[in-house]
Amino acid sequence: MAVKVAVHGYGTIGKRVADAISRQPDMQLVGVAKTRPSYEARVAVAKGYRLFVAGAGHPEEFAAANLPVAGSSREMIREADLVIDCAPDKVGRENAKLYDEAGIPAIFQGGEKAEVAEMSFSALANFDRARGKRRVRVVSCNTTGLVRAASVLAPAFGVDHWEATIVRRGADPMESDRGPINGIMPTFKLPSHHGPDVRTIYPELPIATTAVVVPTTLMHVHVNHVRLARPPGTTAEVVDRLRHTPRFHLFAEWERVGGTPQVMEFARDRAGPFRPDMMENVVWENGIKLDGKDLYFFQAIHQESIVVPENIDAVRAILDLAPDAATSIERTDRALGIPRPP
Ligand code: NAD
Repeated sequence: MAVKVAVHGYGTIGKRVADAISRQPDMQLVGVAKTRPSYEARVAVAKGYRLFVAGAGHPEEFAAANLPVAGSSREMIREADLVIDCAPDKVGRENAKLYDEAGIPAIFQGGEKAEVAEMSFSALANFDRARGKRRVRVVSCNTTGLVRAASVLAPAFGVDHWEATIVRRGADPMESDRGPINGIMPTFKLPSHHGPDVRTIYPELPIATTAVVVPTTLMHVHVNHVRLARPPGTTAEVVDRLRHTPRFHLFAEWERVGGTPQVMEFARDRAGPFRPDMMENVVWENGIKLDGKDLYFFQAIHQESIVVPENIDAVRAILDLAPDAATSIERTDRALGIPRPP
């Protein structure tokens, strides 16, 4: 029987997670909760999702907008076996009381501090550790991208030192009130928080990160320099490892993908029945170079969607719905149309 999953918070991440849940044969979407009526609430209703009122929201506002609501988020949570919190940064920790009250496990997002949960999660890294946990946090988009790369490089080649500069998008595409609109803005926290966040999953990984914010809405890009402990003989061996790992997408030079605009156009062109998103780490074959022990590579991260399959796998891990990570990843990716590695 399908497990019942509620999605609390229906913005950039929540609406993608809800769509993803509704495509999993072993999961049933109880409903989604929002604070205020909006075009997104209208789409949720059109998709047949039950709509609940979150936080300080008022049911009368939804009624005035002709949007049927099924109750409060507390009522939604009561019907669920598990809740995925997709509320804004730091609101999840307030919501945690509701989940405890209902006695059900919860998944939080990367905008929460690691302490909100028993563990931080990324499917390729620590799927099995999440079995039976009450509170799990799926790490942020940038951290997910770095952890996935570490899950390939560290076991195969060992990592002596890793420096990553994170070129961050200024806003998500629909966030018209954020910036910068002009300028390259250093993040004056040195090193940036991403390295310590990666170490919530890989405590021993010697990674240090810095970040700048740039005026784009199309993905983050990581500029990586990794000193390998046991380097392979050729760059091709690194490329091969990445090519054969789920949730990595490699572009060949002949594809003429010069940067993130072409990556996202590719995502729109290939889109199947799921959203035109790019849930894989994007790597350019001609953007990987091994020089002795030094590995250089770029990767692009679609901030709005990379954590979506991770949330689905976290549900399966917590509720013990799959024998291992590979099986869960395979099921999730098939349902979401993420191509399997060759
Ligand atoms: P968002 O602002 O787009 O959406 C938040 C949603 O939560 C809205 O629907 C809002 O109505 C609802 N909400 C407000 N108060 C609430 C409450 N008390 N209870 C439940 N819901 C409430 O935010 P987002 O970008 O989807 O981010 C959600 C989480 O995902 C954050 O932790 C964020 O750091 C993380 N995240 C965001 C991105 C990204 O690029 N947007 C990427 C990875 C992770």
